[in-house]
Amino acid sequence: MKNETCPRCQGPAVRLTQTGELSCARQCNETPVARQQRLELHRLTAELARAVAGAMPKGVVFALVVAEAPRGSMAYVSTADRGSMRHLLRELLDKMETEQPS
Ligand SMILES: [Zn+2]
Repeated sequence: MKNETCPRCQGPAVRLTQTGELSCARQCNETPVARQQRLELHRLTAELARAVAGAMPKGVVFALVVAEAPRGSMAYVSTADRGSMRHLLRELLDKMETEQPS
């Protein structure tokens, strides 16, 4: 993954795969309304994750990715350590990319 920099604040940024746009990790150009919507999405995602975690047997980990389609905020929760979850998600992406559409 290439290290990108936000042109406004010089902080870290990520290239959005769907649009190709740069997204500042610090959200430096976020409007107050967009900030409110993002925080609400994070709150709902955390609430959902607590409910899912309560229903899972011990030793089962999960990741929950929630996004406002098609280009809005994204929230992510994982109960695994970052390295393990990166490995699991990469494996999932590899499977999805090699699967034939039915
Ligand atoms: Zn920025």
